[in-house]
Amino acid sequence: MIILLGVKMDILFFQPAVISDGRVSYSAISNGLIALGMYLKQNGYENRICHFNGTKKLEDFVEEKIREYNPKYIGVNLTWHMHCDSAIRIAQHARRLNPNIPVVFGGFTASYFDREILEYAGIGDLTIIRGDAEEPLIEFLKTGEIPNSNTSFVKDKKIIRNNLTYVQVELPRVRLYYPITELVDRWEVYLERNQIRTSVPSLEDKVGHNTAMGEFHLYVGKGCRNNCYYCGGGRDAHKIISGRNKIQFRDVEDVKADIEQLVIDSVKTFYIDFDPYPEREFYLSLLKRLSPQNARLMFSAWCGPVSSEMLDLIDKKFNGAEIVISPETGSEKLRKELISRGYGKPPFYSNNNLLEFFGQLQERGFRAMCHFISGIPEETEEDRRATLDLAKEVKRRYSNVFTKDYDLAIERNLCAPPLYIEPCSPLQRTSSIGFRDYLKPEKVPILSPESVGQSSKFREVISRGQDATT
Ligand code: SF4
Repeated sequence: MIILLGVKMDILFFQPAVISDGRVSYSAISNGLIALGMYLKQNGYENRICHFNGTKKLEDFVEEKIREYNPKYIGVNLTWHMHCDSAIRIAQHARRLNPNIPVVFGGFTASYFDREILEYAGIGDLTIIRGDAEEPLIEFLKTGEIPNSNTSFVKDKKIIRNNLTYVQVELPRVRLYYPITELVDRWEVYLERNQIRTSVPSLEDKVGHNTAMGEFHLYVGKGCRNNCYYCGGGRDAHKIISGRNKIQFRDVEDVKADIEQLVIDSVKTFYIDFDPYPEREFYLSLLKRLSPQNARLMFSAWCGPVSSEMLDLIDKKFNGAEIVISPETGSEKLRKELISRGYGKPPFYSNNNLLEFFGQLQERGFRAMCHFISGIPEETEEDRRATLDLAKEVKRRYSNVFTKDYDLAIERNLCAPPLYIEPCSPLQRTSSIGFRDYLKPEKVPILSPESVGQSSKFREVISRGQDATT
């Protein structure tokens, strides 16, 4: 057991990474963890977020950080399923180093697989806080007693699951803590991580482009109105995991203040991956209030092509932009069907709308990333050909759009890499895929005609256009 001297941090958070074949990737800090860290700071609780980037062995890193910060509690973020293995290793090693420090798990995947993690991990006194963690965690830090809302733990060899009684009705007002080095450990190293922008381990060298230097994921809100069949962050998943039944944005002034300060703190690219409404009123309001920033914007357009009004504002307020967009398939018929059955991303836009949009981006000197999906339920050979044709057309006409070569053979299809079937996605919920399937990043189930075909229940519900769990 290590003896700790020095600072007594209230809670030390670990953000895991994917460790695969000795390489480390996908170590972005989740927005939920940033929001939690900000909230704790505002309420007087000292915390630090440590991101693992593979410069040393995971266990050595955990030991170094525990020695450095001497925390009263350890928090492990298990938002993304590909971190299952490394999150558990972090917790197990922390317990080995000092069994007196309570370990808390949180995040989407931990919340959804709480029972399975408690059964599997063999980590004594592990507490999982499900859903929104802000108030339950503060209660835990304040009293030392496991709160009786939103928690799962083992007592007398039995798993106790308290009800999800803390659900954020509105998002708490938070702003990033300054200096940010008091919130994020090794901030400069975090900004330079420059990793491949994919979480699919075997495709790291082939798919996607790298994260930009100085890139930061901006926390804007929580929730989604869609239920994409592969996604664990959709409307029903939010309801099941955290009880959230509406989309919530942060206060626009808080987001503006964070952007302005983050530019001072060397952020060069803001990545916004939150676009629940096609009207984009929040972003129009934010952009109108924002002064011009010495940074780029990367915007993930869940709701399809962005209006020229918003593009003009982005042009005025940022030093360039990249729009990430996925029509999912080149087949307009299939795209419409997915939307009408409740598994797509409304509103519908045609292939021509998309091509015109890329033209508008080109005129402004903006970039785009256009990606498609392999293994869509009920996708036919004809649909795949339509995707191939659209991908070729995009490539031929727009050099500003990043799209990889599309191949009719799914395993060679780099333009539409196979997606993971995420925990709590409509597809996972109607299949037999469980927690243990997510433990090895290389073996995580991916979307394919075979995996969709194996879930006969899912095939049944998708053809009816109704989610099996609602
Ligand atoms: S993939 Fe679909 S369900 Fe998931 S967050 Fe994006 S729009 Fe929502």
